[in-house]
Amino acid sequence: MSHIQFVPAATRKPKPDEGGLGFGRIFTDHMLLADYDVDKGWHGARIVPYGPLSLDPAAAVLHYGQELFEGIKAFRGGDGKVRLFRTEKNCERMAAGAARLCIPPIDPAFMLEMITELVRVEQDWVPRAPGTALYIRPTLIATEPFLGVRPAKTYTFFVVLSPVGAYYAEGIDPVRIWVEAKYVRAARGGLGAVKAGANYAASLLAGEEAKKKGYAQVLWLDAIEHRWFEEVGTMNLFLRIGDEVVTPPLGGSILDGVTRDTAITLLREWGAKVSERPVSIDEVREAHARGELREVFGTGTAAVISPVKELCYHGESLVVGDGKMGELSRRLYDTITGIQYGKLPDTRGWLR
Ligand code: PMP
Repeated sequence: MSHIQFVPAATRKPKPDEGGLGFGRIFTDHMLLADYDVDKGWHGARIVPYGPLSLDPAAAVLHYGQELFEGIKAFRGGDGKVRLFRTEKNCERMAAGAARLCIPPIDPAFMLEMITELVRVEQDWVPRAPGTALYIRPTLIATEPFLGVRPAKTYTFFVVLSPVGAYYAEGIDPVRIWVEAKYVRAARGGLGAVKAGANYAASLLAGEEAKKKGYAQVLWLDAIEHRWFEEVGTMNLFLRIGDEVVTPPLGGSILDGVTRDTAITLLREWGAKVSERPVSIDEVREAHARGELREVFGTGTAAVISPVKELCYHGESLVVGDGKMGELSRRLYDTITGIQYGKLPDTRGWLR
């Protein structure tokens, strides 16, 4: 793209061993940058050698957290082709989130073009081993050096890329989840529907305490009644109760997940009854008592589907189904990853 400048790196890093990639520690040779100011708008899109940013210590992002990010993956199929999955939705979500944070949004079509171009430049970094991917991290930060509390006047957009290992390298093992009745992730009217760094800062302590108690993640409840299910860790939540699949509605405090939308679409195509409706801990305890809590799982870009085998609420343990990965969870996982890696046909126009 002629309007994305390219400054190639003088030296290239050796590619890592694909067996030990882990998550988010290794970065590629180049990154993408663009800047915003009031006169020029978004401008100066450029792919440059990967390296530290230079920020004024008074930059607004460092003080008031005016920041949001995205999480996307590029997949290499067995045919060698590199595919992006529904990335336009991430670009639209970032534009909507930016507006909530008083950050001038980037045109989603241009953001998609910038990401595509960076991945094209770095395509040799998309790993080949099964289940691996190139993780894409677009980020928007307020850079203006000013300590007054108001929206900043200058911003930087950057995209870094990180080859990541298979999430389920040791096979899918359903997790135990702590239903969090003390800490709250987000309240309606707040930032919960935005991928703002602030939400993740708010979630850390609950996550650490749950891990100490032997749980993989927390299940977040609503901020007012502490009864209504919201999300699970950094994933959207689905429950199969009897013959109904329930997922909490997008009420402003949870993220509009791309995988959530994908799961709803597929489940409906398969004829499942899917309800986007509020679901409370009371309903789930009753369903469990009747033996109707058949599946619980999280959906997200990182794991795709994360099955839950047990919920712990105030010391009470609710075992989900037979404690193994459920039938719908398995079918969703196989179908979504099948499409992402080009093993199943893309009949819905989800790939680029
Ligand atoms: N909720 C939160 C809080 C998240 O961080 C994520 C990960 N982006 C999700 C849900 C799942 O969203 P997606 O399916 O778009 O990855």
